[in-house]
Amino acid sequence: MNILVLGSGGREHAICWKISQSSQLDKLFIAPGNAGTNQVGINVDLQPTDFDGIKDFVLKNKIDIVVVGPEEPLVLGIADYFLADESIKHVGVIGPNKEAAQLEGSKDFSKQFMKRHNIPTAKYASFTQDNLADGFKFLDKMKSPYVLKADGLAAGKGVLIIDDLAEAKKELENMLTKGKFGSASSKVVIEEFLSGIEMSVFVLTDGISYKILPEAKDYKRISEGDQGLNTGGMGAISPVPFATAGFKDKIENQIIIPTIKGLKKDNIEYKGFIFIGIIKVGNDPYVIEYNCRMGDPETEVVMPRLRSDIIDLFEGVATTTLSERDIMFYDKAAAAVMMVSGGYPEAYEKEKVINGIHDVVDSLVFHAGTKQDGAKTISSGGRVICVTSYGKDFKKALDKSYENIKKINFDNMYYRKDIGFDLELIED
Ligand code: ATP
Repeated sequence: MNILVLGSGGREHAICWKISQSSQLDKLFIAPGNAGTNQVGINVDLQPTDFDGIKDFVLKNKIDIVVVGPEEPLVLGIADYFLADESIKHVGVIGPNKEAAQLEGSKDFSKQFMKRHNIPTAKYASFTQDNLADGFKFLDKMKSPYVLKADGLAAGKGVLIIDDLAEAKKELENMLTKGKFGSASSKVVIEEFLSGIEMSVFVLTDGISYKILPEAKDYKRISEGDQGLNTGGMGAISPVPFATAGFKDKIENQIIIPTIKGLKKDNIEYKGFIFIGIIKVGNDPYVIEYNCRMGDPETEVVMPRLRSDIIDLFEGVATTTLSERDIMFYDKAAAAVMMVSGGYPEAYEKEKVINGIHDVVDSLVFHAGTKQDGAKTISSGGRVICVTSYGKDFKKALDKSYENIKKINFDNMYYRKDIGFDLELIED
């Protein structure tokens, strides 16, 4: 099989690493990829949103399956583009169509979906510029802290959690009338604040049946103790110690099954990954958000724990025969730590030479923002390198990642030294 993966981050390197182990693989291409993906496949100079360019490439290279890493091409309708064109209709696209991608692309759409199908989530209401006054009244009735969410994609920055009522009203006005997050905040979801611990659940579906992948927990804030600005993710662990078998059953019965059935009922065809952001409130799971693709850096711990052939699963999705495929996992834990550029997540440094990658022993090195410059590997993004290790439990896995991460260096690099800190008590 010939496979094309779209994207260029650590997530895509981890997916490509897994694909490259399949006996069914003939050729693997990545558009545009990074210095790491080029070691397991062939990088192609194409952007994931250049649909015409992708079509030409797919035809020329007889691609059987296209795996879409990031959300943007999905929200722009890459799956619909393939289906609408006779010449590439036969190609399997791992990623939902434009309508289904609204589960991530519009928070109002996903909240309506959850309400319609009785999927546990925070109570909410949505507002536009035309009913700003109703938004103020709604806030008056809510308790602090106030959760304000831009409806559209805002690069992970569109959620505000505010303690003070007057400030919440001011921010609601800024979002709706002053374009605080551009057109993404022309509609705002206000929801009840839920207090609990978060985790991520991943499902692969062909629209009829589904397979649940290993769960993970990621660490989004830049500083230790979960302080400071939000990032794309600074580390992740899998499995999640507090996700007991009983809790995972609740997630499957109360969230995953109603989600798959709900999509069918709404006539929304969904083929691909569903990422469900869960918050554990007391002993019950609630959905914080859906994403229509895998998470990053969660993929860097989920893929290493997947034992089954991923091409077999992708084929199952493409041909709607997922129910006939087996899915197996490794029992051992995996832990990932992300190395980032100086300045990140604000303006950050680039073009730094990365040394020591080849000194790493017994850990996986997934590249995120890297590129090859002759014999040198240099940084090209905020998140640069992810080191993932296995262990008997997440602490052992983390110890190994931290041991190996010390061997890699570039100017002003930074990584959190406390991934998993909040789980210590639960684990002991
Ligand atoms: P990202 O792109 O980072 O995944 P997002 O911008 O799509 O996030 P959400 O995932 O909906 O937005 O929210 C971001 C974060 O805000 C959540 O991970 C969670 O920590 C917090 N959050 C969101 N909604 C709530 C809520 N109702 N109660 C408490 N915290 C919340």
